[in-house]
Amino acid sequence: MNTTSPAKVYVVIPCYNEEEALPITAKTMSAFFDEMIKDGLFAPDSRMLLVDDGSRDKTWTVIENLVASSEKFEGLKLAHNAGHQNALWAGMTAASQKADAVISIDADLQDDINAMRGFMKEYYSGADIVYGVRSKRETDTFFKRMTAEMFYKGMAHLGVETVFNHADYRLISKRALHELLNYSEVNLFLRGMVPTLGYKTAKVYYERSERTAGESKYPLKKMLAFAIQGITSFSVKPIRMIALLGVIFALAAVGIGLYALISMIAGKAVPGWTSTMLSIWLIGGVQLIALGLIGEYIGKIYIEVKRRPRFIVEEHLTHK
Ligand code: UDP
Ligand code: MG
Repeated sequence: MNTTSPAKVYVVIPCYNEEEALPITAKTMSAFFDEMIKDGLFAPDSRMLLVDDGSRDKTWTVIENLVASSEKFEGLKLAHNAGHQNALWAGMTAASQKADAVISIDADLQDDINAMRGFMKEYYSGADIVYGVRSKRETDTFFKRMTAEMFYKGMAHLGVETVFNHADYRLISKRALHELLNYSEVNLFLRGMVPTLGYKTAKVYYERSERTAGESKYPLKKMLAFAIQGITSFSVKPIRMIALLGVIFALAAVGIGLYALISMIAGKAVPGWTSTMLSIWLIGGVQLIALGLIGEYIGKIYIEVKRRPRFIVEEHLTHK
């Protein structure tokens, strides 16, 4: 399906308060674009789409100047800070009409742009989704590495399929992108959503470096919010845990009930203690089970309201 002539690629770059990093990024990317076009990996009309995610600094002015300076750049300005995932979505939506493939990358160029060569190679050999995967995390602080590891492992336990050590550096082909854009949920967690698409996927490994300039736009607070978003947008398992806890409490009630009864018979309990103990544990257990049951239905509603496509057709072989 992926044609032999070079693909028209849109590189989507979300930018939030990136006035310091963006000029450097634009320069590096611009030179890189020329190489990619020369090597026949990008079509000459490929573009970089800079999405200003409601920045409060001069990011948009920088983008305006870049767009004026070269037709390689396009700019998209969001009216307010919608967040990294939404900014990416906005950019991919805008690019979806024109691009054969879309590559998303952060504005700070922590992700090695040369991996895009690998992306294109995989794309030309038929991959619809190519994940950029970090081979090492040496440039991260110990804390970030540890929390990230815990997060990926935790997600896997909750039954959410994500690609280990893959952030949002990836290529998506036109047809996969069109299917992805049919997902109508507003709580975006692309790392979880993209793997649900299916299609032929590939991984390209690269080493991640330090931020080129400026500071991380993901302070701990945003990172935590992102992790919670990831879990609650994808898993109803936490609800099941409530029901499980209820069962454990109800079982414990039996043991504690026996203990309370024996204490009473042995005359070691003050009047009223046995019945109070029994009721607390039993009612507690029953309540938790009931909550878990209600939760199951809420979980269903939750999955239902996302209105995701029930299936995605990859190919349909027919006769005339
Ligand atoms: N970003 C964004 N909106 C936000 C926060 C971040 O568009 O609300 C962009 C940011 O400009 C960058 C990317 O998301 O291009 C990743 O952010 P950052 O590099 O600060 O995150 P880190 O690498 O520290 O996790
Ligand atoms: Mg970064």
